[in-house]
Amino acid sequence: MTAVRVPGLPIIEAGQLVSTSPATGAEAGRLPIATAADVQQAVDRARAASEWWVGLGFTGRRQRLLRWRALLAQRIEQLAELVHVEGGKPVADAIVEIVTAIEHIDWAARNARRVLGPRRVRSRLILAEFSGHLEYQPHGVVGVIGPWNYPVFTPVGSAAYALAAGNTVVLKPSEYTPATGQWLVDSFAEVVGEQPVFTAVHGLGDVGAALCRSGVDKIAFTGSTATARKVMAACAESLTPVLIEGGGKDAMIVDSDANLDAAAEACVWGGMTNAGQTCIGIERVYAVDPIFDAFVDKVVAKASRLTVGPEGTDIGPITMPSQVDVIRRHIEAAVSSGGRAVLGGPSAVQPPYVHPTVLVDVPEDSAAIREETFGPTLTINRVRDADEAVARANALSYGLGGSVFGRRRAVSIAGRLRSGMASVNSTLTFAGMSTLPFGGTGDSGFGRIHGEDGLREFGRTKATTRRRARSLLPSMTFERTPADVARLVKAIKVLYGR
Ligand code: NDP
Repeated sequence: MTAVRVPGLPIIEAGQLVSTSPATGAEAGRLPIATAADVQQAVDRARAASEWWVGLGFTGRRQRLLRWRALLAQRIEQLAELVHVEGGKPVADAIVEIVTAIEHIDWAARNARRVLGPRRVRSRLILAEFSGHLEYQPHGVVGVIGPWNYPVFTPVGSAAYALAAGNTVVLKPSEYTPATGQWLVDSFAEVVGEQPVFTAVHGLGDVGAALCRSGVDKIAFTGSTATARKVMAACAESLTPVLIEGGGKDAMIVDSDANLDAAAEACVWGGMTNAGQTCIGIERVYAVDPIFDAFVDKVVAKASRLTVGPEGTDIGPITMPSQVDVIRRHIEAAVSSGGRAVLGGPSAVQPPYVHPTVLVDVPEDSAAIREETFGPTLTINRVRDADEAVARANALSYGLGGSVFGRRRAVSIAGRLRSGMASVNSTLTFAGMSTLPFGGTGDSGFGRIHGEDGLREFGRTKATTRRRARSLLPSMTFERTPADVARLVKAIKVLYGR
């Protein structure tokens, strides 16, 4: 940590983590930094609370989670203001973020029993004398490690599902947004005051590392791919399972029959909401040749109208001061390698703000195309046709989300994107649909939050067989006779031999 107060950079003072506004430098929150022993104690307390939380059953947990959801809905303005002050995000963006989190809590609470609860599964002719039973039991304690860019949506996307599944949760929020993380656990404690079911530990990366090594039963990590590798390495020591929601470099494809006004609107939103600091944000656009020029004009017209500044604007400050250098490097790399800035450019970088920037004809090997930029910037490249667009979109090791605009071919193009999610004629919308799983592939991670897959991610699969009748073809016993085996062979030939 530095002695010079850089707005937005967290400070450590007298054992406390102090988060500051990236716009003004004003203090946003002050939380005690956890030692490794504190982390262990938090996990031990969460483990002790497990029995009580599991004992509430799906019905009891549903009631509590729905009450928590109601609290968030009632206090949405208060939480949005905190997110705004601590991370710099415009209040309207914070509201949208919290709305999606509320929806996820609601869905997880209402659907946990149906998805995870005990059920009978069909048996087949082989072992027909047994019934099959399946349920998803809680892992125990889940450690949730979250990033700063969506400090409500991302931890809630894991925690609400983990809690609904019967786990207790210890959250390590980003050092840039600890007060928002603490707000979440404090509000939860108002509706679940009896036991420390959902708590937080604060600090820098070493606190996250301590959580990985604390004996938790699963880690749900959301953050950069580089940190994900460290998390996996730490968890490998104890075979702790991990869920990885990593970074992305999502592409949008604009086909020749797209509604260009709608595509431009969604492109600007998808690329520049939250100042472009969105894992599933649109960073690369591939537009087919016949509509390329018209599409770029529309994007530039819309993006140039966005307002930038601390209050009441479309684009707020860059949350993490060091990210400004990454954004500047990407813009300069694009321009110096033959790309053109048709809006903004290097001069758009005015810390802590970056003004909307649209780059065209950027070489595909440029950092602006290959690395996560996390700024209000878009690259738009011309492609011959949708096939070339898909090939370019799929050329990176990231595979988080993506978007396609078009009519006839759009759905099939979306299906060909090597990504965990895609939206057709919109951007980012899959994140808010609680019935759909959220997650990526390749360097964007593995495992899923949200939806049925997201609930199952936080349940240990338990499969049970139960005898219903005597075995007609006894095979799994030393009591079987040669005649039993011969009959088994005959039966298998009849059943499967043709
Ligand atoms: P980081 O990877 O820097 O940090 C994520 C979290 O990990 C933070 O809480 C951080 O703590 C913690 N951490 C740091 N080092 C370690 C360690 N060694 N062991 C355990 N935990 C550690 O990501 P950012 O916070 O910068 O978030 C931005 C990234 O998150 C982007 O790449 C973005 O794409 C990705 N992201 C992915 C999403 C998805 O769903 N796929 C959603 C949102 C963001 P500290 O902050 O104290 O360093």
